[in-house]
Order: sequence, then C-alpha cells, then structure tokens
Amino acid sequence: MAACVDVGNPLVSRKVCVIGAGMAGLAAARELRREGHAVTVLEQGGDVGGQWLYDPWTDDDAEDPLAAAAAEPVRVHSSMYASLRLLGPREVMGFSDFQFVPARKSRGGAGAGDNPGRDPRRFPGHREVYLYLRDFYRAAGLTDAVRFNTRVVRVAMAPPPCRGGPGDALKWLVRSMDAGLWKQCTDDQMAEAQCVEEVFDAVVVATGHYSQPKLPSIQGMGDWKRRQLHSHWYRVPDPFRDEVVVLVGCGDSGMDIALDLLAVAREVHLSAKSVEAAMTPAMSKMLARHANLHLHPQIERLCDDGRVVFADDVVVFAADTIMYCTGYSYSLPFLDTEGKVTVDDNRVGPLFEHTFPPSLAPSLSFVGIPRKVMVPWFFEAQGRWIAGVLSGRWTLPSEEEMMRSVEEFYRARELAGVPKAYTHDVEPHKMYELGEKYCDFPRTEDWKRELMAIVSRNTSDDMETFRDRDDDGSDHVRRCLQEWHALAEHQTQDEEDPAAAAQATVHSSL
Ligand SMILES: Cc1cc2nc3c(=O)[nH]c(=O)nc-3n(C[C@H](O)[C@H](O)[C@H](O)COP(=O)(O)OP(=O)(O)OC[C@H]3O[C@@H](n4cnc5c(N)ncnc54)[C@H](O)[C@@H]3O)c2cc1C
Repeated sequence: MAACVDVGNPLVSRKVCVIGAGMAGLAAARELRREGHAVTVLEQGGDVGGQWLYDPWTDDDAEDPLAAAAAEPVRVHSSMYASLRLLGPREVMGFSDFQFVPARKSRGGAGAGDNPGRDPRRFPGHREVYLYLRDFYRAAGLTDAVRFNTRVVRVAMAPPPCRGGPGDALKWLVRSMDAGLWKQCTDDQMAEAQCVEEVFDAVVVATGHYSQPKLPSIQGMGDWKRRQLHSHWYRVPDPFRDEVVVLVGCGDSGMDIALDLLAVAREVHLSAKSVEAAMTPAMSKMLARHANLHLHPQIERLCDDGRVVFADDVVVFAADTIMYCTGYSYSLPFLDTEGKVTVDDNRVGPLFEHTFPPSLAPSLSFVGIPRKVMVPWFFEAQGRWIAGVLSGRWTLPSEEEMMRSVEEFYRARELAGVPKAYTHDVEPHKMYELGEKYCDFPRTEDWKRELMAIVSRNTSDDMETFRDRDDDGSDHVRRCLQEWHALAEHQTQDEEDPAAAAQATVHSSL
C-alpha cells in the first residue's frame, strides 16, 4: 500500500512534536530524526523510560487511593511495582539495531559481573529496562531532543492563520507547562497557570496507556470502609503483612501481585470473571503450592462489616483490603480534535492501522496504542512509517479509503465477537505485517517469534518458574540464541567506547 515518491522529489523536513519519552516516544523520535525532521519530545517526567521509570509513590501517600484512581488524569504515571520482572526475555525486547544486552562490563573496564545496579537476567527487573532505555536514548543521540518536566496540557488544531501555506494542510498548537506545577494545580487553577504555546507541523502522541486505572462497578464498593486500591498504586507487599487481601482480576498483574503478597499476607483471594478460564495449569500449580491462596468467581457484593460475598455465595469474612487488578483505560485529556478522534469504551478512533486518524493524517499520529505487540519493534515500525509519510517518502491512502478500512476492521472484529474494549489487541499476523506493508521495516526474526510462543506456553504452564526455565525449544532457537549472545557481546564492548556507542549498531544477521 505504501508508495515511494518520484525520484527527484526532495523529502520534506517537518517540525514535529512527540509527546512522551517512553519506549514508544523514543522509538518514534529516533525514526523522525533519521528521516530529517526537527523533533522536540515533550516529557512530563524527569527522565526517559515512561512506565519503566519506577515511582515509589504508594497508596499510603494518597488519602483515598480509590478516589485518586478515579480522578482523570492520574498524577502518577508509572504502575510498576518493586518486584516486577519482564514477561518476555530480553532477546526479543531490544531495538532492531540496539539489542537489549546484559551490561556486564563497567566503563572502568573491570571484569564481568562488576556492573552494580544492572540485572543480567534474561527476564530482568523493571530497572534494567529503564537503564536500557536510557542507554538507547543516549546512543541514539536524542539527549538534545527531549524537554523534561514538561506536561502537555492541550493539543489542538492551530487557528486558520497558522494553517495552510503551499502544500501544507494543518498545523498544531501544543500547550505545555511545568509538570511539578501541573501536579499541584486544580482544574480551576489550570486556566491561570503559566503555559508555553508552540506551533508544530505534526504531533505524534506517545503517552502510553497503563496509567489511568479502570475500575469495575461492584455493589457496596462506595461504602467499603476498609482499604481498597487499584493495582496502579501497588508497590511493595509490606503494608499488607498479615492481612486478608482480595484481588479482583486474574490477568498478568493479578497473578503476579498475588505471588508477591503470598509471602506476607495471611490470605490472598483471587476473584476471576470466569473461574473456568482462570484455571490454567499455572493457576492449579499456584493453588496447590500455596495453602493461603484461593480462587473465586466474581464478587457479588462488598459489605461494610468487611465481608466479601462471591457469586457462588462463598463468603470471605473480614477482608482487610480489596485490590482492583482490572486494567487501564486509554486517556487523552489534552487532545482536542473537535471530535475527530475520541476515546469510547477503550477504543481510540477512528485510527487507520491504530496509527493515523484518517481526517487528520498525517499531521496527527499515534505510536503505542496497540496492545499485545512485540515492543519496541512495533513502535519502531510505526515511527518509521510516520516519519516517511511526513517527509513524503510514503503516501497514505485517501481519507475515504482509510476510513473504509477502519470501518471494515471494526465490522470484522464485531462479527468475530470481539468487544469494543479490545479493539487495540492486535492479532499476531497483523502486527508482523505492519512494517513490511507500509514502510519496508524488516520483519522480526522467525526465531524470536518462536521463542515468544514458547515463553507464552511456559507462562501458562507455571507462572512462578517460567522466567527461570532454560528449555528454549528447537535447536534452531537455541542456535540463534547463542549467536545473539555472541553478537550482543560486541555491543557490550562498543559501549566501552563512547564514539562506537553513539553509532549503536548491532546488525543481527540471524
Ligand atoms: C505493571 C506493568 C507491567 C508491564 N510488563 C511488561 C512486560 O513485561 N513486557 C512488555 O513488553 N510490556 C510490559 N508492560 C507494558 C509497557 O508499558 C510497554 O511495554 C511500554 O513501556 C509502553 O511504552 P509507551 O512509551 O507506549 O508508554 P509509557 O511507557 O507509558 O510512556 C509514556 C510517556 O509519556 C509521558 N506522558 C504521558 N502523558 C503526558 C503528557 N500529557 N505530557 C507529557 N508527557 C506525557 C509519560 O510520562 C511517559 O514517559 C507493562 C506495563 C505495566 C503497567
């Protein structure tokens, strides 16, 4: 579908604002720069990393954690808890030319294993991902592109005098303010707050979607006198010592946090939408191993005396805490597109290939909306596509064609019985297709896909051990892993040499 411009047509350089310096924003910024655009990244945090920049702020700091969770937008971005380790191995989670190598050697040149603060495991903790993203940000030469502590509070189409000009359709007004000030401002004060307004040719939204808690509606929730919080606020198990904790939701976070709590809590109760679906081999093993772990169906009601009544009439008496591990909502409170892009039941749309709103493309785009995709590979492909469309290297289909494609996609999902809220769960074959189809971005290697499938099987087999297993499947995968580690070793050596690091290239030939 992508088409090259005529040879001889010079590529256009645009002034582009990327919002967010998480994995998606960094991937996009690098691609935009490579294409020759002038890039400014506005980031509300004091560092890069997004979700991976752990924030120790806990629920104890919020007077009413549930009310804090319900407020939009939340003021704390990261939902990471202290014990969190990656769900996938580092070999599949690197940028295409900057692998996620265990940093074994310090710049001082001492021996292996001497790099304090780094986590060489294949499934490392969250801090290792943050440090890797920071390395990438430096190696990709983005240090002068990011403006930290800057919260974007409004993005809107620039009024007519700024619009237009030969060959130019639309420009964007981006209003931002000091993030520290923003955190303290009430909505009323916001109008008076000192803001900076800038005009850009294009805006790329990369603000993530794992921060705004999604809360269920359960009878008695409003009158519950004991502690209740969303997993967004969970950091460490200690405040739950000797407690009876009920976790609502059995997804990755619910299971992971349950395991974290089991060592300190008196009882941990998991409530699943469907007990049948939740009873994977991994769940059976967890229940067999931990006498203080219990699985229940949905909660029927919460009683103000501390009883929790489940749909099968089983009652947990005197629960101390209810924790909602019920996921996150897409939230774009700063975006004013005059109704052209909306968030409806967790669908951001309409978006062509989850990336371009047909009526505002290409000057407005999104990186990182899809879920269940291999990252940062997918973000890089989106970034390259956007960069190429903005420069004129690639052309998009017409607005009508893009709209028709979006509508067909919605219809197909509906026919397949997929709820609207799962619009952005991308099917694996579609995910792998994007780069090839639109911007010549290389496919992920087959062995990485095979490895992901093995890890996914291992996860549903045993949630407690999958990260430390060593059965990586076929001979092909094992051979490729060995080669990857050998290549990765080069990159580690290069990091000792800042000039080489700036080039940051490990071209995998696997
Ligand atoms: C608990 C948890 C565990 C996870 N585990 C895994 C895992 O094992 N493997 C995996 O692949 N993924 C995992 N993820 C998903 C992970 O978040 C994504 O992989 C990836 O980090 C998303 O990157 P992003 O850049 O899209 O979003 P983010 O990392 O959220 O970055 C968005 C950035 O935008 C900034 N921002 C937001 N709004 C504004 C604004 N208005 N103005 C300025 N800046 C703004 C934020 O401060 C942030 O830096 C996990 C997520 C969570 C919450």
